[in-house]
Amino acid sequence: MSRIVYVNGHYRPYGEAAVHAEDRGFQFADAVYEVIEVRDGRLVDETRHMDRLARSLSAISVQPPMSRPALAHVLREVIRRNRVRHGTVYLQVSRGAAPRDFLFPTAGLQPTVVCLARASSQTVLDARAAEGISVVSIPDIRWGRCDIKTVMLLPACLAKTEARDSGAREAWLIDADGFVTEGASSNAWIVTGKGELVTRPASSAILSGVTRATLIDALAHERMQLAQRPFRLTEALAAKEAFITAASNIVMPVVRIDGAAIGDGRPGPVALRLRAVFHHIAERSSH
Ligand code: PLP
Repeated sequence: MSRIVYVNGHYRPYGEAAVHAEDRGFQFADAVYEVIEVRDGRLVDETRHMDRLARSLSAISVQPPMSRPALAHVLREVIRRNRVRHGTVYLQVSRGAAPRDFLFPTAGLQPTVVCLARASSQTVLDARAAEGISVVSIPDIRWGRCDIKTVMLLPACLAKTEARDSGAREAWLIDADGFVTEGASSNAWIVTGKGELVTRPASSAILSGVTRATLIDALAHERMQLAQRPFRLTEALAAKEAFITAASNIVMPVVRIDGAAIGDGRPGPVALRLRAVFHHIAERSSH
C-alpha cells in the first residue's frame, strides 16, 4: 500500500510530498515536532502530546497552524489513509518558508505542517521487550559541537531575534563560566587597553571562522599582538575596542554591548584598519 503524507492542507503520495527549499525547518531547524504512538488505530496520550506541541510552538513564537480539533482531524486522517493500526504518527510544524535570514520573519509567514504515519510491528517490539535492550554511555554533547557548521541554528535564530528586539545587530553568547564564546553568527574580538587583540581559541565551543583565521594572518602581517584566550563580558565592557568577524561582515566594529559604550562609543582604529587590510591578505578566486 502506498503511503500518504499530509503537507500544508494536502494529502500527497509519499514520493511527491515536499516542502519549500527555503523552509526554515530545513535551513535553521526552526521547527518543532511530536511523535505519537498509534495503538489499535488510536492515538496514545494525544492530550499530553498536543499540550507539549502548544508549549513548544509558544517557546519559539510560532502561532498554532490550525485549531486543535483541526490538527486532531489531520492526525486521524493520516492514520486512516495509511491504515496504521500499530505504529506512530509524526507531526512537524516549522515556522514556514522565507528567504534565508536568521531573524524570525516578523509577519506573514504560514507555518509548514507535515504529518506522516508509520506502522510498526507489535510482535517485534514485544519480542524485543521480552529480551530487553542494551545501551552504551556517551558524553552528553547536546549541543557542545559548535565547531560544526550545522544548520541546527534555532539557538542562533533565538539569540539574533532577541538582539534585534533589544535594538542590537548581534548577540554575544556567554558560557556557563561567564566567558564570551562568540557571536550568534560571528566570532567575537576585543582590543585591550594595552592594545592586545583577544579572541577565544578555536575549540568545540566556537565555530572556527574562516574570516577569523584570515584575520589572524593579517595580524601577523600588521605585526599586531594577538592572544587567543577566553575573555569575560566584564573585560569586553572595559575594552578599548570590540568587533566581530564573519564572511558576511568581514571585520565589523562593535560600539555598544548591552547598551554600554565600548571605548568612546565609535568604531575604533584597530577594527577599521583590519577591515581595510583584510582583502589584501584574503585569498581571492581567479575567476
Ligand atoms: N561563528 C558562528 C556561530 C557563525 O555562524 C559564523 C558564520 O556564520 C561565524 C562564527 C563566522 O564564520 P566565517 O568567518 O567562516 O563566516
